[in-house]
Amino acid sequence: MVCGKCANPSGSLKCSRCKIMTYCNRECQVAHWPEHKIRCKKFEMSPEKLRLQFFVGDKEILFLEDIPALLCQPNAPRELTSRWVSNLVDTHTEKVLEQHPGRCVYCSKQAMALKTTPMVTLNSKPPTILVLARHLCANNRSSPCAVKLEEELQRGFNSPDFPKGGELYRH
Ligand SMILES: [Zn+2]
Ligand SMILES: [Zn+2]
Ligand SMILES: [Zn+2]
Repeated sequence: MVCGKCANPSGSLKCSRCKIMTYCNRECQVAHWPEHKIRCKKFEMSPEKLRLQFFVGDKEILFLEDIPALLCQPNAPRELTSRWVSNLVDTHTEKVLEQHPGRCVYCSKQAMALKTTPMVTLNSKPPTILVLARHLCANNRSSPCAVKLEEELQRGFNSPDFPKGGELYRH
């Protein structure tokens, strides 16, 4: 999860009030507080469960999750939704990879990572995140296989066949 202060990817300390912002450590949290306190509050949960659906190869894995009601509003603050969505997807990606190990889609080595592309429609009923996930040999964005996949995804996003109605989250 990404730190809200310094953008370091190792942020595993979660703000205990809003449960949305994440930080490397207490120092980053304290440093970010003057800015974060404007938005931070204990969020009321939506009565509807979020459908978080992963597609890995020919497998579909569904998680039903609680979601703050605020994030299901059409005008929800994007900085909160995008952080919340990427943290939630990251948290589940490891479980999905553990349960569905596979081989890199390009070089066939044992996959060490899943490249995820969430399609997000939080203001639908039920709120939904579809995650297209592909097996990759390395978690490193600059590895040759990751670069190839990024190029392929880029072409996919520009293709007219790509599903409409959702918002794509790139991260
Ligand atoms: Zn907070
Ligand atoms: Zn930090
Ligand atoms: Zn590979």
